[in-house]
Amino acid sequence: RKNDIAPFLKSVIFSFDSMAERSKVDYGVVFSSDSKEAYFDRDKLEKIINNLLSNAFKYTGAGGKVSVSVGFIDDCIQISVSDTGKGISKENLSNVFDRFYRVESSEGKGSGIGLALTKELVELHQGKIKVESALGKGTTFHVKLPITLEGLPKSAIVVEGEKLVVSDEKQNA
Ligand code: ATP
Ligand code: MG
Repeated sequence: RKNDIAPFLKSVIFSFDSMAERSKVDYGVVFSSDSKEAYFDRDKLEKIINNLLSNAFKYTGAGGKVSVSVGFIDDCIQISVSDTGKGISKENLSNVFDRFYRVESSEGKGSGIGLALTKELVELHQGKIKVESALGKGTTFHVKLPITLEGLPKSAIVVEGEKLVVSDEKQNA
């Protein structure tokens, strides 16, 4: 559905405010350029951001910082989620997108599925995800997604008669 993407992103991102307060983590959000009209899959984008932010808070202790930045370049949206948490070692970094993979020392509960799912969702949206990390210093995930009609996941597009309908639009109709 073509609409202004910023209010949607803000509602997803700011839903972590209470989490930040509870865990005593400093939470910063920056929108670095004007928002655009965009085609995107609400459900997928929401899951992508939720997964990255829940990891950032889960693996960052009190006194740390989590920051999100959102920018628009060409026909893409770029979202970065950074934290000053425990970080991921070089050896483990190449495995974090694998299904059921968890770093051995990972605290808390988890099934190791979050990032595998996130990567799948990003790729269904014709996008790319990258990670940078330093053990003991922190981690940044970068997501870049096209926000054009062509970038929409096939699953979001339904052909009705001869008309192309975006399924998200149907749900809201
Ligand atoms: P869940 O399925 O509940 O998300 P999980 O968080 O363990 O479980 P993933 O989100 O797939 O699984 O992450 C895989 C592993 O990558 C984690 O177990 C953790 O070791 C590491 N990891 C992910 N995000 C971060 C981060 N922001 N900082 C440090 N380590 C991280
Ligand atoms: Mg996770």
